[in-house]
Amino acid sequence: MTTPLPRPKRKDPIKRTRLPALPPAPRSREALGLTAVAAEGRFALQRCEDCGRVQYPPRQLCGGCLSGELAWRDVPAGGTLVAGTTLHHSNDVYFRERLPWRLGLVGLDCGPSIVAHVMEDCRIGERVCMSVRLDRSGRAVMLAMPPGKEVPNMDDDLELRETTCHPRHRRVLVTNGKTPAGQALVRAMVAAEAREVYVGNPDAWHPSPELAALAELPGVTVFPLDVTDARSVHELAGRIGAKVEILVNNGYHLRPGGIRGRKDVNTPRAEMDIHYFGLLRLAAEFGPVLRERGADGPFGACAWVNVLSIWALVNNPAFATYSASLAAAHSLSQCLRTDLLEGGVKVVNVFPGPIEDEWQQLLPPPKLTPEVLANVVVKALEDGVEDVYPGAVAQEIHARLRENPKEVERELSL
Ligand SMILES: [Zn+2]
Repeated sequence: MTTPLPRPKRKDPIKRTRLPALPPAPRSREALGLTAVAAEGRFALQRCEDCGRVQYPPRQLCGGCLSGELAWRDVPAGGTLVAGTTLHHSNDVYFRERLPWRLGLVGLDCGPSIVAHVMEDCRIGERVCMSVRLDRSGRAVMLAMPPGKEVPNMDDDLELRETTCHPRHRRVLVTNGKTPAGQALVRAMVAAEAREVYVGNPDAWHPSPELAALAELPGVTVFPLDVTDARSVHELAGRIGAKVEILVNNGYHLRPGGIRGRKDVNTPRAEMDIHYFGLLRLAAEFGPVLRERGADGPFGACAWVNVLSIWALVNNPAFATYSASLAAAHSLSQCLRTDLLEGGVKVVNVFPGPIEDEWQQLLPPPKLTPEVLANVVVKALEDGVEDVYPGAVAQEIHARLRENPKEVERELSL
């Protein structure tokens, strides 16, 4: 059984914050294929299209028949922990601060043997389940986990925690508590045992029974936060910026319609102001301190979540300017990902399909309920993945964009 981590104590303000150190990051171009797999939480390895051999580590050619026809395919993740050891010394600064560290050799059922990080509950000679995860450098690493989810306190395993962003015992800011999705996110964070949840109220002058109900929940505090106003973002960052460990940017402004016949730019400007400039203002105020606190103990700052839309990846003419503003926000989030990586803080981009709300009433099902969306966000944090596509529509569009983006563009224009 994994030893449960205690709730963190109040920090000594005189004590120096531990500066972030990162695990070794350089990888070959082939190995970056594994990073792409880890970002989506899949388990895939290179498989030779000619002889069917599964190989690891990733290479340019098949080790069996020298064919160059290698494809990343999902493979069974089961295996046996053949041998293991525990490091008590390392010359690497990152690992030196986290010793002791378990390593082992896993013989996979699908063929290759893999040297991997090994969780506390795995026993030599017994079955394990392999997973590819993103470490603090944002690179793929192999982690051997106990099979099944029945192990108590598994989420508290220190090696696993280096690859996850579990909200438990962490302080979370949800930037917009006015939307149904925002309210569901706050409730999901409370259910995931977040230490405190700060909720932004974009129009504090307007009484809101929904926000009043949220403020009744344990550990929830509502603050005025208008992401279209630099002063408002600055003021909130001054009050709680140094405490936030997970930031959920869920600004949302959707007005249906294309660009034909649109005579003014007020709606597109408002969409850009919330989705794009809002992200920019939040990143400027909250980003630097989040990055500095990335190594602040086992409950340090760990994640920045952007709730975007699948239409950030391809324009849907029915929501033309909304799609364009989210495409801009998505592009910016890729830069933010690079910035925050220095502190080992993950940027999680969420690309949901249509949501069941007042602005998407006329869309046919399947639609996501705000509760399902919130649970997917919490699960993404628990699993430490970078890109999530909640809902059947988002998953289908994502899969088809990988195959043939032009075909999706044409179909949406019909
Ligand atoms: Zn081959």
